[in-house]
Amino acid sequence: MGETIKSLKGFQDVLPSESYKWQFVEKLALETAELFGFREIRFPTVEYTGLFNRSVGDTTDVVQKEMYTFLDKGNRSVTLRPEGTAGTVRAVIQNGLLNEALPLRLSYITSCFRNENPQAGRLREFHQFGVEMFGAQSPSADAEVIGVAHEIFERLGLKNITLEINSIGCPKCRKEYHRALKEYFEAYRDRLCPTCLERMEKNPLRILDCKSPVCKEIAKDAPIGLDYLCEECREHFEGVKKRLELMGLAYRVNSRIVRGLDYYTKTVFEFVSNDLGAQSTVCGGGRYDGLIETMGGSPTPGLGFGMGLERLLLVMAAQQIEVPKPSACQLYLGSVGEAAALKALEIVTQLRRDGYYVECDTMNRSVKAQMKYANKLDARLSAILGDSELESGKLNLKDMATGESIEVSFDELSEKIYEHWKKSEFEAMAEEFGDLFAQNGLD
Ligand code: ATP
Ligand code: MG
Repeated sequence: MGETIKSLKGFQDVLPSESYKWQFVEKLALETAELFGFREIRFPTVEYTGLFNRSVGDTTDVVQKEMYTFLDKGNRSVTLRPEGTAGTVRAVIQNGLLNEALPLRLSYITSCFRNENPQAGRLREFHQFGVEMFGAQSPSADAEVIGVAHEIFERLGLKNITLEINSIGCPKCRKEYHRALKEYFEAYRDRLCPTCLERMEKNPLRILDCKSPVCKEIAKDAPIGLDYLCEECREHFEGVKKRLELMGLAYRVNSRIVRGLDYYTKTVFEFVSNDLGAQSTVCGGGRYDGLIETMGGSPTPGLGFGMGLERLLLVMAAQQIEVPKPSACQLYLGSVGEAAALKALEIVTQLRRDGYYVECDTMNRSVKAQMKYANKLDARLSAILGDSELESGKLNLKDMATGESIEVSFDELSEKIYEHWKKSEFEAMAEEFGDLFAQNGLD
């Protein structure tokens, strides 16, 4: 045997014991966003590097340190998407979606790639659920976008997720603020990290987002952006707060949030959980009114968020939030001999068409081994097809939990499984997850 090949560091498998949770969360997120009018968009994994340099911003950690960039066969620099907004904006402009009725509301579930130091809640390939909204400048849009994330957490039954908001102003008021920041940090030149020294020239706001403990300490007393907002930005921020209150969304103003990407203007926000240790942000987003224009589209306001699905699932695990498990095998139909095996295959084919999860033997096992397997599967019902069953056209349907059995003809099987299923499994499931089903309109 050859040496086994392992996955890359920071890249993770999702096994069947976990994937059903992903499916549940993804469906719930997309359906929640649909209630606000968001429709799914899918965009490529790889884009020209220039897209991210220009949109995410070349003073950000993402662009400076974290991107998976390489040359393709035609010697063009391409990059695995580190986030979802850039690709969405490119697709929106390229496909003329802004010519349709505004606001345009898009949602997505996407993998993102960042070459960071892997740790709990920080991977090199991770996944985001995101929404983006284009064309709306009213604070109501900010409140709605924040509302989508809030609603998802509510529906999942998560607790202790805090919404933190801030405004980082527009290019107009930010000039003044940048000047103040530069003046402040100038005094600490000899202690700031080399990256922050660079940031001081290009974009001093970025220093507030530095993860180095020394820079963090220095940044503590830096001037606060909210004190520098122009009239329009101040009014907008007040408008957002008012609407959040009206919608019953508790928030905390945190003047230190600046977000890791360059394109943000006015409102920025994060949902944080203290179940996550150092990686506390489950969801981050904000307004990016200048981005579409920067990317070559006609000036259009925009805003959105990205929610880290790995982190969301970590919070769910920490809070012991259960989601419905995949249904157990409803019938294991065993067989003895070639003719019976063929008949079994024919019957399970029909039962699957009727919508049941059923299995038959594919391993040429003895009856004893087949029953052992049926037990492992936790099959609800089982039956064995042999020569006498073939002859009579009937078989013994056994309830694996009680050991009771009834005689059923081949063509009654579907009906009997339904009766059984309806009685036991479904009722138990409805009882256990009734609330979750009801909340999500599932039945
Ligand atoms: P952080 O400060 O934790 O690095 P960020 O500001 O880089 O986050 P965003 O670019 O705003 O994060 O991405 C939105 C969300 O995606 C984050 O709030 C987080 O939940 C998730 N996320 C970001 N980077 C990673 C990663 N490397 N692994 C797992 N999830 C991540
Ligand atoms: Mg980051």
